[in-house]
Amino acid sequence: MPRRHAEFRQAAIDIIRRLRDNGHVALLAGGCVRDMLLGLDPKDYDVATDAVPQRVVELFQRTRQVGAQFGVVLVKERRIWVEVATFRSDHSYEDGRHPVSVTFSDPESDAARRDFTINGMFLDPLAEEVIDYVGGQRDLRAGIIRTIGPAPQRFAEDHLRLIRAVRFAGRFEYTIEPETREAIREHAAMITRVSAERIREELEKILKDAHRAAAVRLLADVGLLDHLWPGSEWTGERIDLSAAMLEKLPKRTGFVLPLACLLIHWPRQEVNSVCRELTCSNDVRKRVVWLVERIEALTDAQALGLADLKLLMQSPDFGNLETLTGAWLEATGRSTEAYRRIVERASEVSRDEIAPEPLIDGDDLIAMGLSPGPLFSTVLDRVYRAQLEGGVTTKAEATAMAKGLADGSTQEA
Ligand code: ATP
Ligand code: MG
Repeated sequence: MPRRHAEFRQAAIDIIRRLRDNGHVALLAGGCVRDMLLGLDPKDYDVATDAVPQRVVELFQRTRQVGAQFGVVLVKERRIWVEVATFRSDHSYEDGRHPVSVTFSDPESDAARRDFTINGMFLDPLAEEVIDYVGGQRDLRAGIIRTIGPAPQRFAEDHLRLIRAVRFAGRFEYTIEPETREAIREHAAMITRVSAERIREELEKILKDAHRAAAVRLLADVGLLDHLWPGSEWTGERIDLSAAMLEKLPKRTGFVLPLACLLIHWPRQEVNSVCRELTCSNDVRKRVVWLVERIEALTDAQALGLADLKLLMQSPDFGNLETLTGAWLEATGRSTEAYRRIVERASEVSRDEIAPEPLIDGDDLIAMGLSPGPLFSTVLDRVYRAQLEGGVTTKAEATAMAKGLADGSTQEA
């Protein structure tokens, strides 16, 4: 276990011990229990207790009341913030997202408000005992995602659970229990009522996970894929191509590359607006557009000159473009021969050749007696391309070429 995890776990245990010493019930709860039973390192350790928020604040030195109305207090222990939540039951979800009110309660009711059985367990870390009111251990052993309580009701109260079910099924390679699955199908269109930001967060987690291809197929199977953003329309062919491309990606990748695999079917303008729709950061949006736009750039060795190649290599996403193109060609069953030659050629370009300082700049053109205008960038671009190609190697050559270009264009005009 990495040190950070050990520290994190110890912080949660210290908090639990202190609550117990003061007469309270306190347990690890939810996702961390699931992960510990699976032998995985949890992302975070959540504590659940019968102490009300005010009491938690009194018992600990450093606290932050982030969602005290929902019973959540952050407690700082060993320089780590741990979420301490009071056992609660949720009432009537009016907007399909947030409970209208909560009542502080006992562990059993707290388990009942959680989404899936595997997420609904508690662990007493001092007695090393699992407290399972919902059949979580059984489903964990069987590899099943099942709602706690009647599936249609649980998805109707909170539509985000629809996509969470697929995320957990994907991540753990579990199957979704038939009634839960049927209820997801029935409620799939309701996902549009969830904010785009929440959908994107879930989608991002799904796509960053190594099991992304199967999860995207599952999203399609249960009818969620068609509702992720306005205009998310999927034919069997599109699903197959995207899934096949996702299968070819390295296990660990960021969000940009798999998102490009998903959006490969849409023209540039639409890729841009889908990313906006999904509230992707500007950085992600621009990078995905850049990639999708250049999907054919590395497929024709003849058409791609050395300058073109170097200009592509100047992008921090060139490596991603190589990966994406390889995945695309293989997924579409096309020849990768030209692509391989280009990748080979790129590997032979040394670092300092990729983006050399331009031999001349705007000041040089002014010194030659030209006045700044639209011609400037055309001339500078062409001279720089010649420099990248290796045809122009000195400042004198660059100046001569610029002069020729400028004269030529004045004669034309
Ligand atoms: P991850 O490892 O992705 O963080 P997690 O299970 O910890 O998974 P969180 O979103 O961190 O998921 O939520 C923590 C716990 O809170 C869950 O395990 C679950 O018990 C409960 N929970 C979270 N979201 C919901 C929801 N929408 N409906 C019901 N219970 C939920
Ligand atoms: Mg979590």
